[in-house]
Amino acid sequence: MRLWQVACQLFLAAAALGQSAGPVADHAYVGWNVLEVVSSPVTLEEFGRPGRVNILSFNRKTATTVVAVARDELPHFVQKLTENGLGFQTQVQDLSRLLLPALTYDQTRTIPKGDATFERYMQYEEIVSYLEELPAKHPDRVRLEEVGRSNEDRPIHLITINKSSNSRKAEKPVIFIEGGAHAREWVSPASALYLVERLLESPSLLRNAEWRVVPLLNPDGYVYSWNHDRLWRKNRAPSTDPECFGVDLNRNFDFHWGEAGSSTRPCSFVYQGPQPFSEPETRALRDAVLEAQHRIKAYLSLHSYGQMFLYPWGFTAAANHSNTEELVKMAE
Ligand SMILES: [Zn+2]
Repeated sequence: MRLWQVACQLFLAAAALGQSAGPVADHAYVGWNVLEVVSSPVTLEEFGRPGRVNILSFNRKTATTVVAVARDELPHFVQKLTENGLGFQTQVQDLSRLLLPALTYDQTRTIPKGDATFERYMQYEEIVSYLEELPAKHPDRVRLEEVGRSNEDRPIHLITINKSSNSRKAEKPVIFIEGGAHAREWVSPASALYLVERLLESPSLLRNAEWRVVPLLNPDGYVYSWNHDRLWRKNRAPSTDPECFGVDLNRNFDFHWGEAGSSTRPCSFVYQGPQPFSEPETRALRDAVLEAQHRIKAYLSLHSYGQMFLYPWGFTAAANHSNTEELVKMAE
């Protein structure tokens, strides 16, 4: 690699990371370790100073949490683990090595306005221009609606795909798909858009169902995860704590709100919000679902990471859903 290429790549990396975003190192988690600990995420979150630990995943079956810890926090964090008799395994020694490639793609390789790409992750503006062009490209099959606005006033889009957009066959079953609730899970909106592309190529899939897709429920968080913090999860609502922003949209629904796996602390990554449906994003989704509630036969929420199909219930492991058998069969 020649020197100018290195310089050019560094420039692109800096541009992608946003110069005004504070230290690039923290945005891309340079030097952060990833540990696997048998403990609950809410416990581990409190072992570190705010902003110096980041919970990545929790496996309820194995009761294992995967947590990222800043280099300057590591000695203190490991000491806390030891004091509490918790063993750990180091999975990754520099998390930025995994995160930087997606952030620093070659931005000279632009895509035509309104097109989608699945060769890399799409920036927010690219997603919006793709969505806005869809109805013109498929006037007979696609309807694009704005079902609400985010905290920072970005539109929340709903795409409806049907065999014929003006068909009065209102009784068709609806398959509802939602993506991008958690900002950092970039593969979720990408998967939702990929699905939209495939559906439009396969008219037979539209014969017996109407598809409704909210591809990016949390646009503010998505933008923030590109420009400021690659692992941002929540929306960007201000809270009672001036230091802490964001509600975990997936903990804000009015169904067993405030139960297992959520937190009342605004600084937590699973902050449930001050009350159910406190957030404009979850209210928009609620209303879009209620609009078709009698026709919805399947609801799929796309998340990462964890190679899993999760089916209800999420709030308890003690009771089975009355449709468990069917849900397992569908998941399989
Ligand atoms: Zn998620």
